[in-house]
Amino acid sequence: MMNRAPFFTRGFSFFLLAIVLSGCHTVPETGRRAFTLLSVQDEITLGAEAFAEIKEAEKISTDEEKNAMLQRVGERIARVAEVDMPQAEWEFVLFENDMVNAFALPGGRIGFYTGMWKVADDEDDIAVIMGHEIAHVTARHGAERLSQSLAIMAVGIGVQQAVRNRSEETQMAVMLAYGAGATLGLQLPHSRRNESEADEIGLYYMARAGYDPRVAPRFWEKMEAHASGGSPPEFLSTHPSHGRRVQDLERAMPRALEYYRAAVGPSD
Ligand SMILES: [Zn+2]
Repeated sequence: MMNRAPFFTRGFSFFLLAIVLSGCHTVPETGRRAFTLLSVQDEITLGAEAFAEIKEAEKISTDEEKNAMLQRVGERIARVAEVDMPQAEWEFVLFENDMVNAFALPGGRIGFYTGMWKVADDEDDIAVIMGHEIAHVTARHGAERLSQSLAIMAVGIGVQQAVRNRSEETQMAVMLAYGAGATLGLQLPHSRRNESEADEIGLYYMARAGYDPRVAPRFWEKMEAHASGGSPPEFLSTHPSHGRRVQDLERAMPRALEYYRAAVGPSD
């Protein structure tokens, strides 16, 4: 910093400055500033392409009851999250798969596995997961992580070009960016910070949609108990310890309860 290295040219400084200035967004609800090189429109395009591939590769469930529940919860929560990402293109698809997992792709594509119902007992439990996944989308966690890998990958050819030419590597990075890599036997975990943030924002969303946020700690306990027999890809491997998670949820609970009471009326 003090002794500028000779290779640190003025052009390169401007390049870095341009990246920093153009590459930031504010996370809704928490107000955190995050690094992004993609526009929301880039996210939607890349997410839609990746989701189409997943839908071709995976078996889509015909279970009417679970499908109806997934659509109902998804639409209710997407409606309250809309203000944070009006351009999002929401789509909720149920896959026939025994794994206890769900994932979100950039721009609003959400996948649930039927295995999720091994832990989720009712619609409120599904709302906990749905809130969490929708929060990953509106907080743009995938774009944040993708920007980090693209920034590394695209040195020399330019990030915009890397995004636009949609190479196989870019596709792979998009899928990995949102935890969908589990379906391909690959997984790049969300950071713990992003997981905690999705927990918190998801809690507010479910509450505003009229689902009692107080079920969330109990639900994550059930997930924890289930995970002791294996390792569900999205939710626990990179998550904060259970004690920490419950603590964080309790801290966010008063604000969530205000939203919940405003949504359902003061009687509860
Ligand atoms: Zn997550």
